[in-house]
Amino acid sequence: MHEGAIIHSLLEIAKDIKVKENLKEITEVKIVVGKFHQIVEEVMITNFKYMKIDYEGFENAVLTMTEKDVNVRCKDCRHEFTIDEPIFMCPKCNSFETELISGKELYIETMEGIQ
Ligand SMILES: [Zn+2]
Repeated sequence: MHEGAIIHSLLEIAKDIKVKENLKEITEVKIVVGKFHQIVEEVMITNFKYMKIDYEGFENAVLTMTEKDVNVRCKDCRHEFTIDEPIFMCPKCNSFETELISGKELYIETMEGIQ
C-alpha cells in the first residue's frame, strides 16, 4: 500500500513546520484525507508510529485523521452526489460525465507542539 510513502512525505512537511515554528516537540499532527485516496486509517497510524522514530521531537506525537467524502458533480444534469465506491456514474441520469468536487484532499490541517 501507499500509506508508508504518504506518511513519509507528511513527516517531511511536519519536520519543516516544526523548524519554522521553532517547536521543540510535536504532540499531535492532524491530517485531512479525501476518501478518493482509499487510505486505511489504522495503517496510517501504524506507519506513523514506526516512521516518526526517525524524526527528532516526534517521540510523543500522535496522528489523527479526518476523512472527507468523495463528492461528484454530473456534467450533464448538474446533480451533485457522494460516492462510497469508485463508480463515477450519476444516479439521476446515469451519465459518466462527472467531475470530482471534493475527496482528493491530503494535507496537514494543524499541528500541536511544545516550544
Ligand atoms: Zn446526471
